[in-house]
Amino acid sequence: MVYKVLNALGRNFFPPYCVLCLSGEAIGEDYFCSGCKADLPWLQHCCDVCSLPLPSAAKDKRCGRCLQRLPAFDRCVGAFYYADPIAKLISDFKYRAKLNYGRILGMQLAAQLGTHYQAHTLPGLILPVPLHRSRLRSRGFNQSLELAKTVAAQLGMPVASDYLVRCRATSSQKDLHFNDRQRNVRAAFAIRAKHSLPDKVALLDDVVTSGATVAELARLLKDNGVQEVHVWCVARTERS
Ligand SMILES: [Zn+2]
Ligand SMILES: [Zn+2]
Repeated sequence: MVYKVLNALGRNFFPPYCVLCLSGEAIGEDYFCSGCKADLPWLQHCCDVCSLPLPSAAKDKRCGRCLQRLPAFDRCVGAFYYADPIAKLISDFKYRAKLNYGRILGMQLAAQLGTHYQAHTLPGLILPVPLHRSRLRSRGFNQSLELAKTVAAQLGMPVASDYLVRCRATSSQKDLHFNDRQRNVRAAFAIRAKHSLPDKVALLDDVVTSGATVAELARLLKDNGVQEVHVWCVARTERS
């Protein structure tokens, strides 16, 4: 209740409590208390390439799908497995415009990325996955761009929101099966040719599920001279 009142004071108001259990334990920049943070669905023991969780007994560092055929992107790094309470925070961020949750999630992603990269191995640019203008109009913000701003600030990287364009409104991926997802995003994007791109870029999305969207974008970027495409996401989940 207290949190609701405080939250109503402003979208970007940061309460001095854990965002999950509302305990007032010292939480620093994290906005999670240590107990809740330990219980988050951290993405551990996952495929080196696509970041999907591997069975705990698996010795391979790649999942069966990547062993058979590598995806169009070179590497995916995520912070969490898509499960509550992260799924709920993402949903509130996107559909209830809780932009402060976006910042909290972006901070966690940046912290995870910091464990995977050194300053000289970071991509040269972050490209948020674009929304079609009709969805941008109805939502009022692009969740991937909001996350990218936080990650970029934390890692000292540039972010470009106008290089990639979603030129076709696609159905929501979450309601589609895997093959339909690939079909749904084919030729849905364009690149603004006036920009020159670095050799290595990071695509950033809130959730990566089938990977069809980021794979389509990776192909487009590579057709335009990019050598290496990394995918960064707050949450990773298996295809449905
Ligand atoms: Zn807590
Ligand atoms: Zn994989």
